[in-house]
Amino acid sequence: MPVDFPLHSETLAIHGDAGVEDLADIAPAIHPSSTFRARSASEFAEIATGDRPMRFYTRYGNPTVARAERVIAGLEGKAAALLLASGMGAISTTVLANVSAGDHIVAQSAHYMGTTRLLADLLPRFGVSVTQVDQTDPAAFEAALRPETRLMIVESPSNPTLAITDLAAVAATARARGITTVADNTFASPINQRPGDHGIDLVVHSATKYLGGHSDLVAGVVCGDEAAVQKVWEHAIVLGASSNAFDAWLLLRGLRTLPLRVARQCESALTLARALQAHPAVARVHYPGLECHPQHALARRQMKGFGGVLSIELAGGYDAAKSLVGRLQLVANAVSLGGVETLAVHAASVWEGSLSIAQIEAAGVSTALVRIAVGLEHPEDLVRDFEQALAV
Ligand SMILES: *Cc1c(COP(=O)(O)O)cnc(C)c1O
Repeated sequence: MPVDFPLHSETLAIHGDAGVEDLADIAPAIHPSSTFRARSASEFAEIATGDRPMRFYTRYGNPTVARAERVIAGLEGKAAALLLASGMGAISTTVLANVSAGDHIVAQSAHYMGTTRLLADLLPRFGVSVTQVDQTDPAAFEAALRPETRLMIVESPSNPTLAITDLAAVAATARARGITTVADNTFASPINQRPGDHGIDLVVHSATKYLGGHSDLVAGVVCGDEAAVQKVWEHAIVLGASSNAFDAWLLLRGLRTLPLRVARQCESALTLARALQAHPAVARVHYPGLECHPQHALARRQMKGFGGVLSIELAGGYDAAKSLVGRLQLVANAVSLGGVETLAVHAASVWEGSLSIAQIEAAGVSTALVRIAVGLEHPEDLVRDFEQALAV
C-alpha cells in the first residue's frame, strides 16, 4: 500500500492491490501461465516449498489471482484472502480444512442450497455431524454446542427470506470455547457488512455475485488471518478448486466499482421494496431495510446498507408467483444475484427438482415467494416492470 493512513472501501477497491506486482501498467496484467521459471535450482527449491508462492504453479498461486485476493482482503478488513474457483469451492474447502471425522458443526437451518447439501449430505458421510438451528435465535447456537463442536457456520442475510443472524452473538459464543466461525457474506458484500468487525474468523463469498458484479465469471473467496487462510490454502492445493488469471482479472475489473454499484443497488432495492409493499397483489415483502422486517433493528446494528436482494410473497399463491416471473419484460427469470441486471426467480420452481412442496414450506419458504436481485437499471423502470407484470 503506497500510503500510511487507513483507506475507505472506495479507495481500497481501486488501490488495494498496489504493490503486489511492480509494474508500470495502470490496469492489472493477466498472467495466463500455468507454471513459472525459477532463476536457479536453489531459488526453485525456495519457491516450491514456500507459503502460497505467487509464481510457481497456478494451482498454488498466480500474480493476477494474488491481486484480486489483496483487494478483497482489504475490503473485508482481514489480513489475507484466498481466491477459489467458485463460492462452493471456497465454502467446501474452508469447511474441509477445519474439520475431521468425529467433529461437530453448528450451522443455520437456512443456507445456500449447495452449503445445505455439503452440511446435510456430504459431511455426514465422512463422520462429521451437523446441527442446523434457527438463525434468528442466538441462544439456539449455544444450545446446539457439544464438546466436539469445532465450527460454526452462519449466513446473513440468508436466502431467500433475508433473515438476519446476530454475528457478534455467534462470534462471542464460539470464541469463548475456541470454536472457529465462518460467515457467508455473499448477500451483504463487504460494503454493507464486515463479519470480521463483529468477531467472525473466516469470511467466505461467492465472488460470482456482487464482487464480480457483471454475471460474467464464477469465483469464490475466503478471508481471514494469515494462519487460517494458509490452512485453507494447504487443503485447496489438494482439493484443487483453484482460480485462474482470466477470472481474477474480470473480478478485479468488477471490484473497482463495487462500492458504487452496491450503494445504488441498496437504494433501488429499498425503492422497489416500498413500491411492492404498497401493491395489492403482494401479500408480504422481505427486505431487512424495511421497518416492518422483524429484525430491522439488528440489521441496522450490524449492516451499513441492506443489500440488493429482496423477496415478495404474492397474494395469489404458487400460481401467481410462478407466472409473475414469466410476465416481467425487463427483469430476467434467472438465478444468481449481484450483477448489473435485475433478476427474479420463483423459489419453489427452482427447488422443486430436489425438494417436495412440503419440504420447501417446512424450510420456512412460501411457495408464493419470488426472489428479486436488484441491478443497476433506473428504479422507476423496475417498479413499472413489476407493476405491469402484477396488473393481470
Ligand atoms: C451463489 C452463492 C453461493 C455459491 O457460489 P458459486 O459461486 O455459485 O459457487 C454460496 N453462497 C451464497 C449465499 C450464494 O448466493
